[in-house]
Amino acid sequence: MNDRDSVIIIGSGIGGMTAGIVLAKLGYRVTVVEKNKLPGGLMRSYTRKGIECEVGIHYVGALDAGQPLRQIFELLGVYGRIPLDRMGDEGIVDKYLLPDMTFHFPPGIGLLEENLHRAFPTESRQIGEVISLLRSSLQQFSLKEILFNKNQEFDLSLQLQSLDHYFDKLGCSRELRGILSLPLGWIGVNSDECPLYLWSSSLSSYLMSSWKPLCSGAEWADIFAGRFRELGGEIICDDRVTNILVQDRTVQGVVLKSGKRLTAPLVISSIHPKLMLRLLPDDALKPSFRNRISSLKETRGIFGIHMAVPEQTVPYHSYNTFFVEYKQPPYSGVTFFITRKTVKTGYNLLSLITDGPYEKWKKWEQTTKDHRPQDYREAKDREAAVLFDRASQVFGPLPGAYLIDAYTPLSFCAWMDSPEGGAYGVSRSVQQKFKTAALHRTPIGGLHAVGQSTFAPGILGTALGTLRVLSQITGTPVLHKQFTDLKIQGI
Ligand SMILES: Cc1cc2nc3c(=O)[nH]c(=O)nc-3n(C[C@H](O)[C@H](O)[C@H](O)COP(=O)(O)OP(=O)(O)OC[C@H]3O[C@@H](n4cnc5c(N)ncnc54)[C@H](O)[C@@H]3O)c2cc1C
Repeated sequence: MNDRDSVIIIGSGIGGMTAGIVLAKLGYRVTVVEKNKLPGGLMRSYTRKGIECEVGIHYVGALDAGQPLRQIFELLGVYGRIPLDRMGDEGIVDKYLLPDMTFHFPPGIGLLEENLHRAFPTESRQIGEVISLLRSSLQQFSLKEILFNKNQEFDLSLQLQSLDHYFDKLGCSRELRGILSLPLGWIGVNSDECPLYLWSSSLSSYLMSSWKPLCSGAEWADIFAGRFRELGGEIICDDRVTNILVQDRTVQGVVLKSGKRLTAPLVISSIHPKLMLRLLPDDALKPSFRNRISSLKETRGIFGIHMAVPEQTVPYHSYNTFFVEYKQPPYSGVTFFITRKTVKTGYNLLSLITDGPYEKWKKWEQTTKDHRPQDYREAKDREAAVLFDRASQVFGPLPGAYLIDAYTPLSFCAWMDSPEGGAYGVSRSVQQKFKTAALHRTPIGGLHAVGQSTFAPGILGTALGTLRVLSQITGTPVLHKQFTDLKIQGI
């Protein structure tokens, strides 16, 4: 092993850990640098009042045998270490509570078709079209195709067409499109911005199979970090990268806040592209590249609370609930509810997430996390009280329930350095299609970018995007062999 085989990865979220584990398995000497005290990025939960509060993993799709996330987890060697609850036992993965109806998003495309026909009996043509699009997306959503089929053809109409445009063309009622676009909350874009392929592939991953972790995000993050260390990888925490070293348009390594200098011919940035930009020397990039990245629009901010709720009042369910306040779609005012078991006897965790525009909070951004002023805390308490009331609207009176914590877009600025507190990174909207097309590429030799902004958000989207970049770094046959050596089903 020599310096030629050293790799530095900036950021220890799912993107950084996926890259780290695969490269360590291939024999590279890998160092992951993480600014936070503990590794894991958005995967990691945190403890308040003795209860684990989840951040960036509520449920994941495609973990059944032969499905994409399962194949990736098997490759990484973490499958089987993460305890999971298969969702859909009660015929429900997501329960949508609308003012005039309840709709169950079920496990599997067949049941979805049935539920849609039952709820919208006059729209069988539109439902037929939507289901046929989802069926073909399900067929194409294969790791083998996405990673290893050189001749894969991309359907431009799926890339450039917004979901709204598609629904307009089909002549869907506002109610039907409202139901179908509810899961967009997870991508952080609205239906007039969301490319059809992003919507159909996100939905497809959950239609394949849906899973809720039975461990905390902290345990999940530790499983990834532990696996990486087992393979000889090193994680430096609590020390941020302050500079990426570049000479003659080729990366040389990084400098850390502590002053430590790490050299390597390969650096993988698994942080937001705008943050990567800030770490590069002024003269390393053409102004056009800088302008393209700095002008990218972010996904919207979110506001969330965690509550402790007596388990007789709010029992644990494997399904999630979406509560829609307004009658007129598009359903702004959507609140997402999820329950988790806790270590506190008799109590479950109830987490609520809703829109939290950055504009509402940005006036306090210059204050530091531990010294936010009184008016910020009051504003946060007011928003938290509104969400607390919403929980009572859904579950009835909640005697004994109490607030554990609340977070705003500024919390994401502090935890992840997220520009404008965006929860899901850069907006992969139709409007930004060309600007975001090659965010993984940089004009600096040896510097690559991965992470949720570069391909697609979510655990699956981020890991998948990372593997696509790794196949370019290592060569496709090398990555392919990793899968075939393990005899991973479906590759
Ligand atoms: C509230 C919420 C709920 C979500 N729920 C789900 C869900 O249920 N299912 C799902 O699939 N996805 C979910 N997601 C999305 C998913 O969590 C993310 O898409 C994914 O975790 C992003 O991973 P990443 O590696 O790109 O980034 P991150 O996890 O943000 O990792 C980047 C890391 O880089 C570090 N860093 C930044 N700058 C530096 C620096 N200069 N030096 C060193 N380190 C640095 C940060 O501290 C961070 O740890 C959710 C996201 C949010 C916000």
